[in-house]
Amino acid sequence: MWLGEPTREVVEHYDPAGTLTGRSVITRPSPWTDEDRAWLLAHLVEQREACPGCGLPLDECRDPKSAGSWTPLVDTCQACVVAQAEMDNQTEGPRRRGVYVGVRRI
Ligand SMILES: [Zn+2]
Repeated sequence: MWLGEPTREVVEHYDPAGTLTGRSVITRPSPWTDEDRAWLLAHLVEQREACPGCGLPLDECRDPKSAGSWTPLVDTCQACVVAQAEMDNQTEGPRRRGVYVGVRRI
C-alpha cells in the first residue's frame, strides 16, 4: 500500500440531545499523483543500485574497466569532527549503550 492513498473518514452526526442521527463518509483524494509515485520508485531503484561505500551507481564503480580512473576526494565536515570527537569521549571507559551523538549549530 502506498502512503498517500485516498483517505476515507466516517463522520458521525448527533442532535443536541446527543443522539446519533447519521453518518457521512468523506473521501479525500490522494495528494500523490502517478508522477509522484513514479519519481519515488525511480529514487528507490537508484538507491538500491548505489554502492553503500561511495554512493555511485554499482555498474559504474564496480566496473573493472574503470580501474585507475578514480581519485580520492578529501573534505572535512566540521560538524562530523565534533560528533566523532564526542563519540571518542563517550566510548572511553565503560561501554555505554544507546548513546546517540548528534550536532547542532550554536
Ligand atoms: Zn563504490
